Amino acid sequence: MTSLADLHLHSDCSDGVLSPRGLVAHAARLGVTQLALTDHDTVAGCAEAASACAAAGIRFVSGCELSSSWRGQAIHVIGVGLDTGSAPLRAQFAAVAGHRRERLHEIGIRLQRRGRLPGADIVAAVAAAAAVPTRTHVARELVARGHADSVQHAIERWLGRGAPGHVPVEWPELARSAAAIRAAGGWPVLAHPHRYRLSGGALRQLVEAFVAAGGAALEVSVGGMARGDLDRIATLARRHGLAASCGSDFHDPGIPWNPPGRFAKLPADLEPLSARL
Ligand code: AMP
Ligand code: MN
Ligand code: MN
Ligand code: MN
Repeated sequence: MTSLADLHLHSDCSDGVLSPRGLVAHAARLGVTQLALTDHDTVAGCAEAASACAAAGIRFVSGCELSSSWRGQAIHVIGVGLDTGSAPLRAQFAAVAGHRRERLHEIGIRLQRRGRLPGADIVAAVAAAAAVPTRTHVARELVARGHADSVQHAIERWLGRGAPGHVPVEWPELARSAAAIRAAGGWPVLAHPHRYRLSGGALRQLVEAFVAAGGAALEVSVGGMARGDLDRIATLARRHGLAASCGSDFHDPGIPWNPPGRFAKLPADLEPLSARL
């Protein structure tokens, strides 16, 4: 059997649609042989996913995707191979959860005042249902109420930069996220570096800051990524001596472009992070 590592997947413990068990079953059907569950700011699904992986004969890797900031911009740092009981990691989750609660409340106010929507009701529904309330949850609620026809549209129309319900957040510093992952015995991975709206020079500086903070790998191949972006990020990994991670960033079986296990192969000269796990 050929090996297929997917080190970036979400369950309904954050903003994915499938339960950890359902996610493992779906990934197994698609040929994934090593899987990291990387929910946003939680490891709540790891125990269930680990037992489902054991039953399916898949290698399980504990993980999370930490909401972080660098120069005021939101940056995601994945941690894989973690001790899920780590106190510094738990403290990091708690810090992010505080930001999420405050932001959700403020989104409700802004949707109401500036968007003329029942913002308080919308965010109350999200708060009641989501353990880690993300913008994806708010977007799904907006879709369910007929205010947008897709999650992407809801984010652009109501929640993104310049939209009525946009609320800027200062997530914990990138360096703090990387340190929490290291303290938990995990490898920090800079998630989807191609997606940040940064110039070439600023992206290089981000990678330098990430290396200085103890970063181990760049996410070189992500579901739906363009070839040119992959080449650019691979070059950065080479230049900085970083390992290469790969993953789908799968959330929802209804979204066709990034199913579990589907992303371009890593360049052969890079060290795959999956080999350390
Ligand atoms: P949050 O961490 O609460 O800011 O939510 C971010 C999540 O929203 C990301 O992890 C994505 O899953 C989702 N997201 C962000 N931008 C978009 C977009 N343009 N279209 C669809 N989903 C998005
Ligand atoms: Mn997400
Ligand atoms: Mn992300
Ligand atoms: Mn993700």
